[in-house]
Amino acid sequence: MRIDIITLFPEMCDTVLNESVIGRARKKGVMEIVCHQLRDYAFDKHKRVDDSTYGGGMGMLMMAEPIALCFEDICARLGKKPYFIYLSPKGKTLSQDKVRELAGMENICLLCGHYEGVDQRVIDLYVDEEISIGDYVLTGGELPALVLTDSVCRMIPGVLSDDLCFEEESHYNGLLEYPQYTKPSVWRGIGIPDVLLSGHHANIEKWRRESSVLETARLRPDMLESAQLTEKERQLISKKTDGND
Ligand code: SAM
Repeated sequence: MRIDIITLFPEMCDTVLNESVIGRARKKGVMEIVCHQLRDYAFDKHKRVDDSTYGGGMGMLMMAEPIALCFEDICARLGKKPYFIYLSPKGKTLSQDKVRELAGMENICLLCGHYEGVDQRVIDLYVDEEISIGDYVLTGGELPALVLTDSVCRMIPGVLSDDLCFEEESHYNGLLEYPQYTKPSVWRGIGIPDVLLSGHHANIEKWRRESSVLETARLRPDMLESAQLTEKERQLISKKTDGND
């Protein structure tokens, strides 16, 4: 998979994406990530990429032409049009399902906005989807692009040491992950559930599933509506929430 990022701060993106798991995946060649400096596509000698908004108002807007030129250059280099995403607070909120869908694509291109955002015409002409990382406003699209890139990359085979490890994580199957513990088994007088020390794999699996269901009921009850639960699991939740246990 290849991700192209159009940004005014390519060094900022590369600094983050050269670290840790994603950095190793890039070095191994499992993933290709290319950050493009939008100013390289500016057409005046001052390398300006923004201008004031029509209709008045404070703030500057990113101009359509440098973005179009940069995107067209990426398309020409790839020999095809990547799926083009504009990171925007107006977009649909990123979810694990969307991450999984994007991880199945060969090429995606991310546009990081700044200032008041970008000229609507380039969005209308080229952008396939607008994605937000939450209902709040940041100063630029770099952090959202990094969030999206990290979450997508870790689902690409070969990026994590064990490709199956994300399948039990929060949100993958519509539930939150069960609580986890590491050594020592007693820390400041606080122990861990006995079952985890039993070595009985079936019982551990059962405990993990039940704990996952209960953790979701406790922290994100809104997720239970669409979660696939057995009748027994629904009863377990009512028993716990009714305070009968
Ligand atoms: N004027 C815009 C609005 O009200 O919708 C906000 C622009 S914001 C200050 C500048 C840039 O940050 C946006 O173009 C976008 O790329 C990025 N951004 C800010 N918040 C975001 C969020 N929650 N999700 C994704 N991108 C965001």
